[in-house]
Amino acid sequence: MLEQKNYKFWFCTGSQDLYGDEVLAHVAEHAKEIVEHFNQSGVLPYEVVWKPTLITNELIRKTFNEANADEECAGVITWMHTFSPAKSWILGLQEFRKPLLHLHTQYNEEIPYDSIDMDFMNENQAAHGDREYGHIVSRMRIERKVVVGYWKDEMIKQRIAGWMRTAVGIIESSHIRVMRVADNMRNVAVTEGDKVEAQIKFGWEIDAYPVNEIEECVSDVTTAEVNALLDEYYSKYEILLEGRDPEEFKKHVAVQAQIELGFERFLEEKGYHAIVTHFGDLGKLKQLPGLAIQRLMEKGYGFGAEGDWKVAAMVRLMKIMTQGVKDAKGTSMLEDYTYNLVKGKEGILQAHMLEICPSIAEGPISIKCQPLSMGNREDPARLVFTSKEGRGVATSLIDLGNRFRLIINEVDCKKVEKPMPKLPVATAFWEPLPNLYTGAEAWILAGGAHHTAFSYDLTAEQMGDWASAMGIEAVYIGENTNIRDFKRELMLGEVFYK
Ligand code: MN
Repeated sequence: MLEQKNYKFWFCTGSQDLYGDEVLAHVAEHAKEIVEHFNQSGVLPYEVVWKPTLITNELIRKTFNEANADEECAGVITWMHTFSPAKSWILGLQEFRKPLLHLHTQYNEEIPYDSIDMDFMNENQAAHGDREYGHIVSRMRIERKVVVGYWKDEMIKQRIAGWMRTAVGIIESSHIRVMRVADNMRNVAVTEGDKVEAQIKFGWEIDAYPVNEIEECVSDVTTAEVNALLDEYYSKYEILLEGRDPEEFKKHVAVQAQIELGFERFLEEKGYHAIVTHFGDLGKLKQLPGLAIQRLMEKGYGFGAEGDWKVAAMVRLMKIMTQGVKDAKGTSMLEDYTYNLVKGKEGILQAHMLEICPSIAEGPISIKCQPLSMGNREDPARLVFTSKEGRGVATSLIDLGNRFRLIINEVDCKKVEKPMPKLPVATAFWEPLPNLYTGAEAWILAGGAHHTAFSYDLTAEQMGDWASAMGIEAVYIGENTNIRDFKRELMLGEVFYK
């Protein structure tokens, strides 16, 4: 499901022809060496492709346009090894439409004190050339990432790797298609929004279908297919009967297996990557899709509940951005449910009625079958687990009427103190940074929702860079947040993002 293009990033070195052929030969050699080092490091998630040194307006313009046209190119990395007069970059930059990274590095790590002369200075002057280039990018108000440091430094490679994931998120955002089953939950505000504007800003296509059209696809799934998937469930998960008759229990689980297969077929046939459901509008479906949705999310689909298409698209986006992360800890929709307000143990219990992605699970995953306290359907089967510890990022994309805002909160995920044997849903538990009090106050002031798109495998920086590329406001709630400055930031946003 999460199949992606074989994305590559172009490495374009800037120079000019004033220095003579020998210097230009060195520039090209050095750039090739850096590219080879990046590709062999195992740190970067995508391949870097060396491009011939850019020294004229014509070549710069041609290269950027070729990058635009190349479907596998997800962005360009630029570096001015020597001085490259920046007016020669104007036309190329003006026409470039993909993510841009300005790598501010230098071939040599240390000043060669004993041998340094003016020839060396002229050949190795990124400190000089990169400022000329940076100036024109700023003057043209072009969004780009700047990464500074020695190219062999692990930290630099990590930052480039993080940006590559954001760049792929930027490119892939325009391919996200969300399938909505039914409409928004009645009277709920935060899950609503302007879908036309979302398509203009982010490229998302968001379509609604009558639930019974999808249900037809579900009822077409054969008993043999359902039984095969049931076998997989029963071998993969613990079965927690909790006093229920095993055969009756299995019938309930079979309903979810049928929904999983039917929904997946519908999504594949029609080319959708994210799903939205609504517990109050289930048509002929026998159960609220629970276990089925959890499994689809694990396969890479986005999901939002109660009509929440923004969260569905964000979860899908974050799954794209985290594809292939080594030792990934998971990405899911979550919902702020209930607090622990005991001093020193503060936190928010995250859950949903059913639909939490098992990619965030730690320890055993069980199937339970319990009544849903809302709606009028039979008891749905669901996967139950607790989640991993560690730092994560919770995001909420909201529509403020005239614009979108992305709220980004770093959170520390913890274990709850005691088991919760009567709770029939998957959970996570986190303390927002800088602490529950300031974190929740800032979140509420910013207008953040109760549903979030969450990942352990992305950073606030990556999500903020994505928002910048989309031209929308991003507000960060983290270690250094204080309410006075945060309110000022929101006020400035009102002026800036019209
Ligand atoms: Mn909800």
